Amino acid sequence: MMLLTINSYQDLYTHLTPIRHSKKTLGFVPTMGNLHAGHLQLVKQAKTETDFVVVSIFINPLQFGQNEDFSSYPRTLVRDQELLNTIGCDVLYCPTVVEMYPEDQALHTKVSVPDVIGGLCGLSRPTHFEGVATVVTKLLNMVAPAAVYFGKKDYQQWIVVRKLVRDLSLPINVRGVDTVREKSGLAMSSRNGYLTEVERVQASKLYAILQDVAKHLQETPHQVETCLREGYSKLVDAGFKPDYLEVRESETLAPAHLNSSSWVVLGAVYLGATRLIDNVEIPLKR
Ligand code: AMP
Repeated sequence: MMLLTINSYQDLYTHLTPIRHSKKTLGFVPTMGNLHAGHLQLVKQAKTETDFVVVSIFINPLQFGQNEDFSSYPRTLVRDQELLNTIGCDVLYCPTVVEMYPEDQALHTKVSVPDVIGGLCGLSRPTHFEGVATVVTKLLNMVAPAAVYFGKKDYQQWIVVRKLVRDLSLPINVRGVDTVREKSGLAMSSRNGYLTEVERVQASKLYAILQDVAKHLQETPHQVETCLREGYSKLVDAGFKPDYLEVRESETLAPAHLNSSSWVVLGAVYLGATRLIDNVEIPLKR
């Protein structure tokens, strides 16, 4: 089957209705395009767990801050279509901004998940997660999948979506997929394209440092502050400008408690003008 690209909700609805009536399960992978092996891993998992896979590409203006890269974000539709066709994706949904936000965006109903959007990336990107939660809710209503697939690379986003799906009682299984990395350890990301060759080598140190911090925390969970302080210095020594380095409960992103079973260490750094994020989960033996 050839990949079918659809641009309007009306066409999507028309196309998905018989699929739903045939009792096939729908898997959905929302993206902003410029696809790489990380995105494709989500599609592969969706294909193994559901009968019919929809990918969306929508660069959502609502989740970009005023000084962020909305206008320069890489747009590579033809290549993305080829990749999705090769991997056996069924439908690509590429709505226009007007299709998603027919009126003034500022006047729209917004979805907020106050419990989990304030800290971490939400501190330096105050409107980002409300933009994500709003567009994801709209896309979930449009596609109405049985399962939706998110990468744990964007860990806070994954938790935001899990919480909104639970809080709004959406009948959707939210699946988290492990981060796909370059050989160097660098988490694949569309924004890696902004890095120079030299920066790309430097960027791989973020994961190595987060792994060190995770190992130290696992060995000495009573010494969170020391572990984080050391990790922060390593980030600076490696040439990064750290935005944050924190350890949280992995299920909820609440502050880390000693009696929990799993933490996650999360970091965001600037390398030149590029912002990189990554995280490492820490199972605690108790
Ligand atoms: P984006 O196009 O950046 O909005 O990402 C779309 C989806 O792909 C999100 O759920 C991301 O978390 C996921 N994703 C991005 N990079 C990776 C990666 N390296 N490994 C796994 N998932 C990823």
